[in-house]
Amino acid sequence: MSNYIKLLPDSVANQIAAGEVIQRPASAVKELLENAVDAGASEIELIIKDAGKTLIQVIDNGCGMSAIDARMCFERHATSKISSAEDLFAIRTMGFRGEALASIAAIAQVEVKTKPAEDEIGSCLNIEGSKVISQEPCQCSSGTNLIIKNLFFNVPARRNFLKSNTAETRHIIEEFIRVAAIQPTVAFSMIHNNKAVFKLSKGGLKSRIVGLFGTNYNEKLLPVEQKTEILTIKGFIGKPEYAKKTRGEQYFFVNKRFIKHPYLHHAVNNAFSELIPVDSFPSYFLNIDIDPKEIDINIHPTKTEINFRDAKYVYAIMQAAVKQSIGQYSLSPTIDFDVDPAIELALGNLPKKGVSQPKINIDPDYNPFKQPQSKGSAGDFTFKKENRDWKELYKHHESVEHRTDESDDTKHRQENDLELHLEKERSKFFQIQNTFITSNVRSGLMVIDQHKAHERILYEYFLKKLKDESHGSQQMLFPQNLRLSPGDAEIIRELKENLLKLGYMLEPVGKNGFVINGIPADLKENDSVVVLERIIENHKKHLKDVNYDKSVNLARSMAVNLAVKPGTKLQEKEMAEIFDSLFACNAPETALDGSRTLAIIPLNDFEHYLKEKKK
Ligand code: ADP
Ligand code: MG
Repeated sequence: MSNYIKLLPDSVANQIAAGEVIQRPASAVKELLENAVDAGASEIELIIKDAGKTLIQVIDNGCGMSAIDARMCFERHATSKISSAEDLFAIRTMGFRGEALASIAAIAQVEVKTKPAEDEIGSCLNIEGSKVISQEPCQCSSGTNLIIKNLFFNVPARRNFLKSNTAETRHIIEEFIRVAAIQPTVAFSMIHNNKAVFKLSKGGLKSRIVGLFGTNYNEKLLPVEQKTEILTIKGFIGKPEYAKKTRGEQYFFVNKRFIKHPYLHHAVNNAFSELIPVDSFPSYFLNIDIDPKEIDINIHPTKTEINFRDAKYVYAIMQAAVKQSIGQYSLSPTIDFDVDPAIELALGNLPKKGVSQPKINIDPDYNPFKQPQSKGSAGDFTFKKENRDWKELYKHHESVEHRTDESDDTKHRQENDLELHLEKERSKFFQIQNTFITSNVRSGLMVIDQHKAHERILYEYFLKKLKDESHGSQQMLFPQNLRLSPGDAEIIRELKENLLKLGYMLEPVGKNGFVINGIPADLKENDSVVVLERIIENHKKHLKDVNYDKSVNLARSMAVNLAVKPGTKLQEKEMAEIFDSLFACNAPETALDGSRTLAIIPLNDFEHYLKEKKK
C-alpha cells in the first residue's frame, strides 16, 4: 500500500492557523497594535482604508527590528517574547505565541519598514501569501511601519464573510479601544479614509477614557483602587445613576490585556445590584495587576480569555473594590436637597417614582377601525378587527339588559341605545394592581396585561411606520446634543434611514456627535436621548441574531422602551385606548415575547367557584 500522509507546506499551515487568529480586519488591527505596545512605543498610529479591507497600517516608534528579525518575524512560532514553556507563566507582554505576523503574511500583502533606533539604516520587506517578494535596506524612521494590503486576497471565502464597512469599522474601533484604553501613557491616533477618528495624547487613565468615550464621561466616573498581596485592582467605574441611561462600557484588563470574564463581570454587577435597575448596565474600566504565575492566558488563540488560579479570591476582591468605591461616593456629602434616586432606591424607601414612565401617547389620528383588515388571529378565541365583531364580545349584556328595559320600542331607538350602551359598557374598564386591565366580555372576564398589550400595539405601530414612508416627527423645542463613542456613532449612521422614518431628525456635529432636532411624534422630549441610547444597545445585542431585521428590531426597541410599565395607574380613557388599539393589531393576543397579552376567564369558572359550598 502506498503512503498518503504528507506534511503541509508552511504556507498552507499558516493559512489554516490564520483562520483562528485573523477572522476579520479588526483581528489584524489588534495584533499590530499589541505588537507596537510590546515594542515599547510611546506613539502609535493606526491608519485604515475601507474598514481595513484594503489597507491597515500601524506606525510605531518602538524598538524596531534588525534586518534578520524583519525576515524572522513572519515565520510561524517566531517570537522574541518567550523561549521556554516556563516563560508562559511570566508573560507581561501582549503577544507570545509568535503566530500573528505569520498568519497575516499568509493571507495578505504585507510591507514592513523597520529600524532599531541605534541603527543608521532600516530594512524594507515585502511578503505576500507567505512568499518573500523582496527585502532591501531602506531609509526610515526608528520603529516599525507595517502595512497590510488586501486582507484575505487569496481566501475569497473569508472575504465574502466580511460584513458591511460600517460593521467592520465598528469592530476595528472596538479593538482600538481595548488596546488604547489601558495604555494612557502611549499616544494613539486612528485615521479612517483620511479622517481622524481618534487623537489621544499621553495622560492618565481618566483622561484616556474621556478621550475615547466623550467629555461627558468626566463626571460619570468613580475611581476604584484596591491592593492586596496578590493583586492590585485599579481603574474606574461609572456612577450608578448613569448605568440607567446607557449600557456601561465594560472593560476588564489583566496586566493591561483586555479580557472577557463573565464571572468577574458578575462580581461587579453584584456590587451594583441594588443601585441600578435590573435591565441596565454598569460601566467599568478595571485593570487587575497580578503576578503572571497566578493566571493562565494560553487558553484561547485570541488571548481574550484567561484562567485565574484562584478565581474566587479575585471575585471577592473585585466585588469589595467596586462596593467600596460606590460606598465612598454615596456617603460623600452630595446628598443635600436633591437626593440621588439611586441611593434612595438602595435604601428601599422610594416607591417606584424614580423611574419616569413614558405616558401612553398614541397617535390621536390613528383610528384602529379604519385599518385595512387582515386575517383573524389564531388561538382559542378569535378577534376580528371589525367594529361589529368587537361588539360581539358584549352582546350578551345587551340582550339581558334590554329585556328589562320596557321604554325602548322602536328598532332604531334600540340600535342607537345599543351604541350608547356599548360606549358606556366599553368605558367600564377596571385596573387590577395597576398592572392588568379587566373588561367584562360576553363569555367572561377579559384580563389584559397592560404592558404586554401596549408593547404589541407600539410594535405594530412603529413597524408600520418603518415600512411606510411616513415621517411623523415633532420638532424639538430645545434641540438636544447627543455625544457618542465612535462605535455608537457608527451605529446611528447605520440606522439613520430607519430612524428618520420613525421621526428622528439627527444632524451630525463634530466627529461623533449629533443634534436631535426632531423626535418621533409619540415620544416625550425628555426621553429622546435615553430611547436612542437604548436603541443602540438593542442593536448591538441583536446584531448577531440569525434573523436580524433592522426594522423589526427598531420597532421592538421603541415598543419595549415606550410601553407603559406594570404598576402604572391608568385613566379610564387610557385603558380604553389600549383596548381599542390592541384589537386593531394584527396579532392582538400575542405578546412580543411570544406569551399572551390577554386571557379570558370564562363565566363558567366563576359559576363553578361560586357553586362550591362554603365550609
Ligand atoms: P508575538 O507577538 O506573539 O511574539 P508576532 O507574530 O505578533 O508574535 O510577532 C513576532 C515577533 O515580531 C515579535 O515577537 C517581535 O519580536 C517582532 N515584532 C512584531 N511587531 C513588531 C513591532 N511593531 N516592533 C518591533 N518588533 C516587532
Ligand atoms: Mg504579536
